[in-house]
Amino acid sequence: MDKSYDVIVVGGGVAGAHTAMAISKFSGGRFRVLLIDKNARSEFGKKTKTGWSCGDAVSKKSLDFACNALGISYGYPEIEHKVDGVLVYSPDHESKVLFDGDGYILNRRTWAFKQLEYLEKFGVEVLDGIDAQGLLANGGFVSGVYGKNITSGEDVRLHSKIVVDASGSASKLRTNLPINSFIEREIDKENDIIGTGRYIVEFELGEDDETWFHPRYCIIHLDQILAPGGYSWVFPKGENKANIGLGILRQLLNRRNRKLGVNDSLQSLIDKYLAINRAIRNAKPSTSPLDENNVFNIWQVPVRRQNDCLVANGYAIIGDAAWMPRPIDAGGIGPALEASVILGRCIVEALEDGDVSEESLWKYNVEYVRRRGYQMASFEVLRRYLQGLTNERISFGMKYFLSQEDVENIKRREHPRFPLLNSLIRYLLDGELRKRIKQDPGLAKGLRLTAEKSRRLISLYSQYPESPEGFEAWHKRFLAELQDAYERLSPQDS
Ligand SMILES: Cc1cc2nc3c(=O)[nH]c(=O)nc-3n(C[C@H](O)[C@H](O)[C@H](O)COP(=O)(O)OP(=O)(O)OC[C@H]3O[C@@H](n4cnc5c(N)ncnc54)[C@H](O)[C@@H]3O)c2cc1C
Repeated sequence: MDKSYDVIVVGGGVAGAHTAMAISKFSGGRFRVLLIDKNARSEFGKKTKTGWSCGDAVSKKSLDFACNALGISYGYPEIEHKVDGVLVYSPDHESKVLFDGDGYILNRRTWAFKQLEYLEKFGVEVLDGIDAQGLLANGGFVSGVYGKNITSGEDVRLHSKIVVDASGSASKLRTNLPINSFIEREIDKENDIIGTGRYIVEFELGEDDETWFHPRYCIIHLDQILAPGGYSWVFPKGENKANIGLGILRQLLNRRNRKLGVNDSLQSLIDKYLAINRAIRNAKPSTSPLDENNVFNIWQVPVRRQNDCLVANGYAIIGDAAWMPRPIDAGGIGPALEASVILGRCIVEALEDGDVSEESLWKYNVEYVRRRGYQMASFEVLRRYLQGLTNERISFGMKYFLSQEDVENIKRREHPRFPLLNSLIRYLLDGELRKRIKQDPGLAKGLRLTAEKSRRLISLYSQYPESPEGFEAWHKRFLAELQDAYERLSPQDS
């Protein structure tokens, strides 16, 4: 098979599907858009062999942004349940922080089929069962993809002016990018990949304990013993149904196992987490046809800032392939949806101008950083700092240092400033606390430093270069700031 298109999108997940829709929509269907996915049509958008692995939560704001831009809408069953916000509990369950705001719990499996329906309505050609194995290049430009038809074994060569890599966190295309580019090929697997997994379960209600299950709120538990370097969650899918899972940083799980003299795996931790949930009883994998082939799975999420550059000549990356999930909570659906709209517009402009160079596509970098990307490095620094803290210190920090203003900042997708740290009044009023602060001045100092670093990184993002010429100088300054943060905030609780 040897064919030509204007754009080839590799990957039919949320990022690829919405980017393909956006290109079609914004060009009025003038360009030939092909989307390829390695799954068979009956498993469209499936992330791994075992399912559409996800916590399924997305903010209404992000979904509305994409739906309004593309003129599409989603309803039941792809939006399976509505929630009023997220409740984050400290390890000792004594402090909770409420991030209110409408959100949806999706059914990723049926959502993928709805996306396929829209793609075809928009005139996007969809080829299923194609494994994209590499990028074709010509004259310093990406010029297509090569791969195999998984069923027939036939070699496939597909040509295009632009390739969008939306093939997820294990992208082979980005790793083996055959042209010169500022795009980073490899992620730091030790520090920036979270191993994560989840069940979709039905259950009977157990004890009336809202710290473990609430039908209107997504619950997040921070606990370095249960989910070292990550967190665990109970996201309601109804009165008696939930998505329950957790994420861990592999090296911290190993360290925790050594310390405790145990041999837990990601799966055993998820099973334990399910078993200790006192608000649910007799939990069983969902038997609903909506969850067919999707009740348990394990996969990975990148949790660093997005790739510092998202474009090359004839090539752009998006979604997990571009490391877009928010470093602090691994939420990648919202960033992927918003980036799809931005990238769709930039690609249409580039094709209309007849120029698909890095320079022409650069606007995608600038606009993504402006809308969403500017806070990601600061969340990366905060995430790395929090991962190094013990349960005791996280509970203490959440109780005394996190103010309502911080919560509002995080809700606005900004970094917390921990203003309470500056108000010594609290310490002075409370003798017990004063004693603790004296014993542990490092925590207050560390949090203050992450806030300070956050401001500097956000300010550097506001100087993100408008064209590729300024990138190298900017990147050097940016990496130096980041490196300084890592060195000064290196984990203290090891
Ligand atoms: C357990 C878990 C829980 C999560 N919870 C949440 C959450 O609650 N909220 C949230 O916002 N985010 C969550 N995330 C992250 C979120 O799921 C991802 O950020 C998002 O789905 C990324 O979408 P994507 O389209 O970039 O990639 P993917 O969903 O990975 O899609 C990639 C697609 O490309 C296809 N593909 C891959 N390689 C090839 C190839 N070589 N050739 C052809 N096709 C290929 C795949 O089959 C797949 O269809 C979670 C992730 C995990 C693993």
